[in-house]
Amino acid sequence: MARAFNFFAGPAVLPLPAIERAQKELADWAGTGTSIMETSHRSKEYDAVHNEAIALIKEFIGLDEHYQVLFLGGGASLQFAMVPMNLLGKDQTADYIHTGTWSKKAIAEAKLFGHVNVAFDGETVGLTRIPRQDELKLTPNARYVHITSNNTIKGTQWHTFPDTHGVPIVADMSSDFLWRPFDPKPFGLIYAGAQKNLGPAGVTIVIIRDDILAQCKAENPTMLKYATHAKENSLFNTPPVFPIYMVRNVLSYMKDLGGLKAVEAHNRKKAGLIYDTIDANPTFFRAPVDKGSRSFMNIVFRLPSEELEAKFVAEGKARRMLGLKGHRSVGGIRVSAYNSCPMESVEAVVAFMKEFAKANG
Ligand SMILES: *Cc1c(COP(=O)(O)O)cnc(C)c1O
Repeated sequence: MARAFNFFAGPAVLPLPAIERAQKELADWAGTGTSIMETSHRSKEYDAVHNEAIALIKEFIGLDEHYQVLFLGGGASLQFAMVPMNLLGKDQTADYIHTGTWSKKAIAEAKLFGHVNVAFDGETVGLTRIPRQDELKLTPNARYVHITSNNTIKGTQWHTFPDTHGVPIVADMSSDFLWRPFDPKPFGLIYAGAQKNLGPAGVTIVIIRDDILAQCKAENPTMLKYATHAKENSLFNTPPVFPIYMVRNVLSYMKDLGGLKAVEAHNRKKAGLIYDTIDANPTFFRAPVDKGSRSFMNIVFRLPSEELEAKFVAEGKARRMLGLKGHRSVGGIRVSAYNSCPMESVEAVVAFMKEFAKANG
């Protein structure tokens, strides 16, 4: 089988064993004589998959009984609205730290529901870095502080989360969810679309702490209330069963690899190889991101001209390297090396980068 070197930013590469497991189980799953797509979400076989996925997320992060894990539809983009719809009163203020394209969208939605204080405006530094603690203009007793843990397009990432003085952090972790172990205590709510780091598109993971859940507004439509889904273990209505099943396959494979510590070591090694290649040849490769804010997931860089960038993408594609083109809003090159991106792919792109620089430098 010839799998491509897949660097798409999302939907993105999945572990081959997780895909092969699905392939093997597709027509006759768990002895049911059906695929998981054709079985009731109220069946005991489906329940086992659903609960295993939740249990693995709780285990990996070390979530205690005060956190609930939900599987919702609508993508991370729906969470931009659902978070303030549930949490932010008309006269209340939420702090938003603006570090990229996605935080901008989250801010626009929050403004529909209450006051938004932009505690740091990343545009002032060209969105090339994460703010320092002393740059944050936090509101005392804000409802919450919203961050984007990894900026998928600009290629920046929070390496240390901000100190919010006890105000709960709400984090969009769509593009680096479970890339390493982290302390969940400062977080009141975490959301992540599955299709970057965890599975296929179609399910969004929401982790919500009980005290935050208890404070959610009651007057929202049933489907848009976290409480509805928390109360029914995300089975209030039909959940996206196949995406959840694939998420389970990916999590189960991650557990076989040794859990988040092993995943982090693998990710650090992969990103390190690419950044070392960039830094070793600064006349050819230019990294626009501040060194202290570099993303381990989305590695962005520029070449000496846009013509060379187009050539790099085309020649890469001819070598079955997919998704090297930077986001249309920023240009340049982006290598997305999420959890499931194999080392062989990174080694292949690094060899190609060196060869290309030699031939065109
Ligand atoms: C991709 C992405 C989103 C949008 O996700 P959808 O599931 O397409 O709505 C939001 N935030 C971040 C950080 C992302 O990378």
